[in-house]
Amino acid sequence: MTGAAVKGDPGAGATGVGSAGWVDALARKRRPGPSRGGHADAAPRRALHAATQAVHAGTFDDPATGAVGTPIYQTSTFILGEEQYRAVEEGYARDRFIYSRYGNPSQWAVQEKLAALEGAESALVFASGMAAISATALALLDKGAHIVASDELYGGTYNLFHHELPSLGFTVSYVSPRDPAAIQAALRPNTMLLYFEAMTNPLLKVVDIAAIAELARAHGARLVIDATFVTPLGCRPLELGADMVVHSCTKYLNGHSDLVAGVALGSRKLTDMVWPRLLAFGGCLDPHACFLLERGLKTLAVRMRAHQEGALAVARFLSTHPRVRQTLYPGLPSHPDYDLAQRTLRNTGGMVSFNVASDAQAIALLQRLQLMREATSLGGVETLVSLPFNTSHAAFTAEQRARLGIAPGCIRLSVGIEDPADLIADLDAALAALPDA
Ligand SMILES: *Cc1c(COP(=O)(O)O)cnc(C)c1O
Repeated sequence: MTGAAVKGDPGAGATGVGSAGWVDALARKRRPGPSRGGHADAAPRRALHAATQAVHAGTFDDPATGAVGTPIYQTSTFILGEEQYRAVEEGYARDRFIYSRYGNPSQWAVQEKLAALEGAESALVFASGMAAISATALALLDKGAHIVASDELYGGTYNLFHHELPSLGFTVSYVSPRDPAAIQAALRPNTMLLYFEAMTNPLLKVVDIAAIAELARAHGARLVIDATFVTPLGCRPLELGADMVVHSCTKYLNGHSDLVAGVALGSRKLTDMVWPRLLAFGGCLDPHACFLLERGLKTLAVRMRAHQEGALAVARFLSTHPRVRQTLYPGLPSHPDYDLAQRTLRNTGGMVSFNVASDAQAIALLQRLQLMREATSLGGVETLVSLPFNTSHAAFTAEQRARLGIAPGCIRLSVGIEDPADLIADLDAALAALPDA
């Protein structure tokens, strides 16, 4: 704890928007942080590339021993001194260590790394992607507000929007993320939030974030993008005009299928509005999970290269196979959003969807795969395979799935970082062993 940082450089008046005279009296300047000053701060002041930031941003060496890398601060609480009392009293508790639901050095380190990768001023980590999404949505909505959301949402988000938020008095309209006219038409005077996913599941539609951001700005509403499927290495929605970005860090960001976490990113001002909801709803991330997430993030750039390379090879193989009716991968020219993907994504990711003749054939195929693991979730080093009809979209009827464009026999692959030749051999053998439809 450096007392020297206090004078003239305090953080924000976290929750105290317009509430106390001291805010103006002290002429506080918001720090983007909070930060412990990672390796990237010590590096020359030129913009570092994403792969370098993935390794160094936020990460700091142990000041006590010189151990390389961020220590795990496995503590619930911190010694209180005059400085901590003042931080609470004056409203900048977010910038001091007081209690680990409020903040912890392990959280700060990984938040700074995530913020650097996303090009965000500030970040807050959460115990899950859903904790990040619910806290963010509730922070940006006033009583009675209306939301315009994608009609192709992650199931957990759909449940939040369809069941939880209406019970709190919010209303939600669902529109196609590909139809700007429908989005415009859905806006109401009380629309405060537009919520879309950068790439949809399982059809991997690419969303034109800049176009939607323009609609939001013109209406005075805020745009939140769930960028879980694309990662900051695919695109950075804040640069395209989004107000906040959320991720399930459970997926690519951690990348090893060994923790559940989430993050919300944006300006310091907006994350200061989310922070009180993190405190109130309690979805803080444990220091050990922060360590795992920070470690996972260090390899994000090399993993995403491998995911993209593997997914492209697998998609090319599937697209020529006689038993495969359709293959969807945004990096394949046959994908309806290929041009938009080329224009807006630096990495088209590791998700591939394809259709065989029927759901029965899809089940038969999964039973014949030897290497690929049958599991829900995505973004880990190992290839996972699942069927939307009995996982993510099990709550829908066959007709509803068809209306969304999910054909019978749809299979979703999260292509890992294995050698693509082994993945193709696994698929090839399983497809060859399929009974006739
Ligand atoms: C998994 C996922 C979530 C939810 O994240 P959790 O970490 O499981 O809470 C939200 N959005 C998308 C797009 C996801 O894939």
